[in-house]
Amino acid sequence: MEVQASLVGRMSNQGGGEALPKAPRTRHYRVAFIIRRKVKYFNIKAGFVNEHTVCGVAKDGKETLLSAEHIVIATGGRPRYPTHIEGALEYGITSDDIFWLKESPGKTLVVGASYVALECAGFLTGLGLDTTVMIRSIPLRGFDQQMSSLVTEYMASQGTRFLRGCTPSRVRRRPDGQLQVTWEDLTSGKEDMGTFNTVLWATGRIPETRSLNLEKAGVNVNPNSQKILVDAQETTSIPHIYAIGDVAEGRPELTPTAIMAGKLLAQRLCGQSSDVMDYDNVPTTVFTPLEYGCVGLSEEEAVARHGEEHVEVYHAYYKPLEFTVAERDASQCYIKMVCLRKPPQLVLGLHFLGPNAGEVTQGFALGIKCGASYVQVMRTVGIHPTCAEEVAKLRISKRSGLDPTVTGC
Ligand code: NDP
Repeated sequence: MEVQASLVGRMSNQGGGEALPKAPRTRHYRVAFIIRRKVKYFNIKAGFVNEHTVCGVAKDGKETLLSAEHIVIATGGRPRYPTHIEGALEYGITSDDIFWLKESPGKTLVVGASYVALECAGFLTGLGLDTTVMIRSIPLRGFDQQMSSLVTEYMASQGTRFLRGCTPSRVRRRPDGQLQVTWEDLTSGKEDMGTFNTVLWATGRIPETRSLNLEKAGVNVNPNSQKILVDAQETTSIPHIYAIGDVAEGRPELTPTAIMAGKLLAQRLCGQSSDVMDYDNVPTTVFTPLEYGCVGLSEEEAVARHGEEHVEVYHAYYKPLEFTVAERDASQCYIKMVCLRKPPQLVLGLHFLGPNAGEVTQGFALGIKCGASYVQVMRTVGIHPTCAEEVAKLRISKRSGLDPTVTGC
């Protein structure tokens, strides 16, 4: 069956006249790949004309009208600049810019406290730069808060500075070229200021929906987030128009999740399968200096959902071999597995803080997706000497009150 479908996506932005960073080589390889697979590629910036037609404008202003039976919107999002802070846009940069700087960013203020803020602050500190993270509320909102505290504790021990409970109010350039940032301490209400060479906004992303003329196609968005409203089949308010990835309301802003949702949608459109994307138990890793990988529920979510008396948490502080050899402090290397208390103790969530957290979490994510229980994890033979084997050795429950420090083999 041949399916006529158009994809309105990131790559169409390249020719749209907007200033974008230089396209990385990998993007060219991807374009070459899809062309080889006989996908027609238009380097144009698209907007809807009606519910079956988009109009694309190329870099030279040439317009192309494209009609399709099905249309998939996958335009993603872009870093958000705070609009209410004087000088934010004029003097600040975002994570899109940091890798294109011709010179070192120098002393840097990172505003925000989630993936982007902590990852950028982590590598800037690692490069030896004086780096401060300004957190207005809590780090890593939505993640297990015990793990989040350990992440920032480790970063602080490596030299990253944290300004907690503060929010910036203005950025000005001084005659010597430095940026003077004024902020408010939200507890005392007092103003304070500091000077930096670079201010990096890591305050979230906005969906790329503004220039799509969605109203011409009748596609509904959430007026607050401007994200497209979708159902479990990724269908928008118009049955033959779909939205996947960051542009869709309520989806995790994670590339591999969007890719899988897109593949499944393509299979459904071709009549190959009726599978829909399962957004539960999506594993993820925050690539901070000590990596934090997780899958499933946080301890807080598990307790809220099942009640404290029905949840058992197994945990351990452990010392990775590579830390022992290098005599590195491993105080924050910690694992916890959140389970139902009732045998065989279904695993609800796994949280891993340590080296190669992404690799460890990816493997266990399969088990958790398949409904693994604590008993099954304990029957899994560890591979010695790895960090992942510590997961298969989690014997101490929080409820027992015993010391969870791993002391030997
Ligand atoms: P998020 O939306 O996850 O977090 C935004 C952060 O900025 C929060 O800490 C928020 O604080 C703070 N913030 C928002 N507005 C302000 C303000 N005006 N002043 C001070 N702080 C503010 O955004 P990110 O940019 O970190 O990440 C975007 C997405 O990219 C994430 O959803 C993530 O999934 C994805 N990503 C994934 C990565 C990975 O898989 N490793 C890596 C990088 C990004 P508060 O909690 O108080 O609202």
